[in-house]
Parts: sequence; C-alpha cells; structure tokens
Amino acid sequence: MSKGTFKLPPIDNEPIRSYAPGTTDREGLQKTYDAMWREQLDIPMFINGEEVRTGDTQRVIPPHDHKHNVGQYHLGTDEHVNQAIKTALDAKEEWANMSVQNRAAIFLKAADLIAGPYRNKINAATMINQSKTAFQTEIDAACELIDFLRFNVKYMYEILEEQPSSSTGVWNRMEYRPLEGFVFAISPFNFTAIAGNLPSSAALMGNVVVWKPSFHQAYSAHIVMEVFRKAGLPKGVINMIFTDPQETADIVFAHPDFAGVHFTGSTDVFKKIWQTIGSNIFKYKTYPRIVGETGGKDFVWMYPEAPALEVATALNRGAFEFQGQKCSAASRAYIPESRWNEVKTHLVNQLKSIQMGSPRDFNNFMTAVIHEASFDKLKSYIDRAKQSDEAEIVFGGNCDKSKGYFIEPTVILTSNPHYETMEEELFGPVLTIYVYPDNEWKESLKLVDQTSIYALTGAIFSDDRYVVEYATKALENAAGNFYVNDKPTGAVVNQQPFGGARGSGTNDKAGSKWNLLRWISPRTIKETLVPPTDYRYPFMD
Ligand code: NAD
Repeated sequence: MSKGTFKLPPIDNEPIRSYAPGTTDREGLQKTYDAMWREQLDIPMFINGEEVRTGDTQRVIPPHDHKHNVGQYHLGTDEHVNQAIKTALDAKEEWANMSVQNRAAIFLKAADLIAGPYRNKINAATMINQSKTAFQTEIDAACELIDFLRFNVKYMYEILEEQPSSSTGVWNRMEYRPLEGFVFAISPFNFTAIAGNLPSSAALMGNVVVWKPSFHQAYSAHIVMEVFRKAGLPKGVINMIFTDPQETADIVFAHPDFAGVHFTGSTDVFKKIWQTIGSNIFKYKTYPRIVGETGGKDFVWMYPEAPALEVATALNRGAFEFQGQKCSAASRAYIPESRWNEVKTHLVNQLKSIQMGSPRDFNNFMTAVIHEASFDKLKSYIDRAKQSDEAEIVFGGNCDKSKGYFIEPTVILTSNPHYETMEEELFGPVLTIYVYPDNEWKESLKLVDQTSIYALTGAIFSDDRYVVEYATKALENAAGNFYVNDKPTGAVVNQQPFGGARGSGTNDKAGSKWNLLRWISPRTIKETLVPPTDYRYPFMD
C-alpha cells in the first residue's frame, strides 16, 4: 500500500566511459576481462529463485578464440519450461500486488549495480561472449541497459499519471493492471541490453516472465540475471531457461495462461511465432500481446551534393562496428555516379586502417562474428559475389575461421539494385553499394523504399533542405528510425526510441512508454459519489 505520491530520483542517460589509454576505467576493464578469461563459469538456469543445473552442458564459445574455454551453461528440458511457467504463475499475485515504488526500486537498484560494481563484469562478459570491443560493449551492456532500466521506471510513473477526467459527483480513475497470465521474453545474441530489457520491462509493469536468452549470449545473460537477483528481484518473477527454442515455443504458445511475447530476433522466427499464436488463439484466456523487433536491411542514401568524407565515415561506422551485427547496421548504400570515386577513396582509405582481432586488444575496431554458422553464411554470400557478373568486391572479402570467426570488412559494388546482398539481411560486415545516375536521384529513392521487406533504419545525406524534405517524405515508411546526415546506428534510449515496421517488427519502440503500454491492461473505474435514487429523468416530468 502506497502512503505517498513519491518522486523519482533524477534520471538521465548514463555517461559513456571512453576507456582511453591511461584511464583507470580501461585498466579496470582489462583486469576483469583477464580474470574472467582465465576462469570457468558454470552457468545455471534460474527458476523460482533457484539455480538449476542439469549436467547436460554446452560450452560457451568466445567467437574470437573458439577453442578457448570460459565455461559452460546447463541445458534444460520440456520439464524446465513447464516449471518456469508454473513458478511464474505462482509468483504472479504477490508480485502484481507489490507497490509500484518497491517494484521500481528493484530495477533502479539493478541500474545502479551495473553503473557501479557490476560494470566491468557485464562489459567483460559481453566482450568475451559476443566479441564486442570495449566501446561497443560499454554503449550496450552498460549504458543502454542502465538507460532501459532507469527510463522505464520514469515512463511507468508517467503512464500511471495518465488519468481520465471526472465530472461533478463522479470520480473516474484508470488502473494499470499487469496482463493476466505470464509473458514470454525471447532475446537475441547481439545486445546484452536487449536481453536485460525484454524480461525486465514486462516485469516492471507487474508481469511474471519466462525468459529464454539466445544460447550465444548465455554467459552475459547470466550476469544480467545475477544483477537482477542482487537487486532483490523476488523468486519466480523472471525465470531464465536455456531450452530448445522450438520445443519451448511449442509448450509456451499452447499454454492457456500465455499472455504476451516480447521478442527480438530475426524476421522469419517472429513470423513463425505469430503464426503459431494465431493457430492457438482459441486456447488462450486472453488475447496475447505480440511484440517483436526483428531484422533490417538498413540504407544510406547520398544526394549528389553531399560531403563524401562524411558519407564514407558514416558507412564505415554504420556498416562495420560490431562486425555489422546490429539490426540497424548500414548494409546497402546508394551513391551518385559523379561522387562514387571520391566516396570510394575515403571509404577504402579508412578501411585500410581498420584493425581486426580480439576485443582484448583495444586497438581493434572490429572482432569476430558470433558463430560458425554465421561465418559460413557470410562467406557464402562473399564467395557468390566474387563469382557474380553483377558484383565486384571493392574491399575485403577474406574470411578466416582458424582461431576465431573473422570476416574482413567487405564492400561489394553491384550493378543490380536488386542483387541478393541489396535485399537480404546478412547480419555481418558486408556493405553493398549501388551507384545511381545523378539525374535519377528521385527514382533512386523509390528503389530505396521498395527494395527490401524491411523498414528498420535508414540515413540520407544532403545539405539541401528541399532534398531533405523530399527524401524524408519519399522514405516515410522505409524506416522506423530515420537519420539525416548521420549513420543509421547508435539509437539512445529516451533520445531515439527504437523500432521499425514492415518486416522489421511491430514498432513498439523499445525503451519507451509505447513499449510499456503493451505490458499492461488498463481498467477504467467510474465511481459515483452520491448515486441517484429515482430512475426517472427530468424530461419525463
Ligand atoms: P534469432 O532469430 O536466430 O534468435 C533470436 C531468439 O529466438 C533466440 O533466443 C533464439 O533461440 C530464439 N528462437 C530461434 N528459433 C525459435 C523458434 N522457432 N521459436 C522461438 N524462438 C526461437 O536471432 P539472433 O541471431 O539471435 O539475432 C539476430 C537477429 O535479431 C537479426 O535478424 C537482427 O536484425 C535481429 N535484431 C533486431 C533488433 C531490433 O530491435 N529490431 C535488435 C537486435 C537484433
């Protein structure tokens, strides 16, 4: 029971550490990385507040050094899925009835733990597990996750303040109830912040959650769970399981108490999830919420008079940071014919200086891609491009998986705007460029809009405001996050709420009020202070 209307502590974006040479932050992170690199972590599932170990284990594979051993995670069975659902439902009533300030305090504490004592640990885990450089890790596992946790609390308070108007003698109120049932969170490998946000945003709004992280993020997911526990999350509220994705889906989506799915991952998986939910619709007690942020084929478009160096820099950062494994990564570019040589020169000059290797070496801008299947897939696209009459490798194209899954930053030039790497999501460090005739810039915008099934992020470069206006309108539905004179990556919580439509998802904008609204079911209460005592209306006199 709340005994006051409480004000939140100040909430702002977490400052990003630079890890520049000579800083204590750099030294601290390196020390933690080295210690974790030498240790073996035994990673349990986490059900009903208990660590669950089955003995059926999988090795955690650091993508940049796949033979190195940093630990193992325990795989569960159908029985663990059922246990996770049951304990979530058992925890539901008490959690849903907990006062808002106590729920909020748990997640504010989790944010402060990551900002402080857990920062190096969660960053080092992400460097080891997902092969992120120190900076890529810092903006993900530390800053973005902290921002998600803190801003979601602020958004929750704003939602609670949204109240209907009342008239004399009547008091109208709106209550924001958690969903009836449990929420299923399914997270991808590429962002530790997303892994933390998918279960916690639903839990913050009073829901109980079954969370299945990607196997390729199990090591850093374990640290996220450790933080939630340390922050005081009660048992059963978030249950983390490492179970077969398809078998888990089959059980969860057939359960009558399934109330919503919070998914981030690839488009095909999400479409299949939606289809399964649709075919099971008669089984549920309530219409489930379906929230999914999925794939992208993100573009950079250049107007003939835009600055070439700025475009080349945006392409390099946008396409190759974190090896292009961001849903927002620039993967297709449209460059005017008259400027291509200039852009190419800058692009290639910058690419020549890019170093690739272990994230432990802070000189590296790039490291390895996530796993062997991704490596093989990317290599097959590059090999086909090498053979194709419609494609030419402008830079890179070498792949080596002897120690880690390393793919050189690769630039493909194509004469076909519908060449496969202009349309399909590759999810790796491969950028394809189509050079368009300058006088067809308006037609080229149609190509940008109509080439892929996705609509996640995109960027245009022009200093001409009429062009900016025209392109912004022409590409209105081509991206949920649209950038003018900037790279299409690096969205910040509370600054650029993130998500796309078409094949890219339900566009519920992760880290925003719009997302949190999906995890509640409002109840309107009308109370009449002095109820009437005569059924007749005055017109009847
Ligand atoms: P993925 O689709 O392979 O896996 C995502 C999650 O779904 C994992 O936990 C996986 O185990 C699970 N899964 C796989 N098959 C399933 C099934 N049949 N039923 C239920 N769950 C299943 O994606 P990934 O490789 O981990 O991540 C990369 C993808 O995620 C890319 O497509 C990328 O664009 C997308 N992504 C999108 C956003 C966004 O905000 N739009 C952000 C990050 C990543």
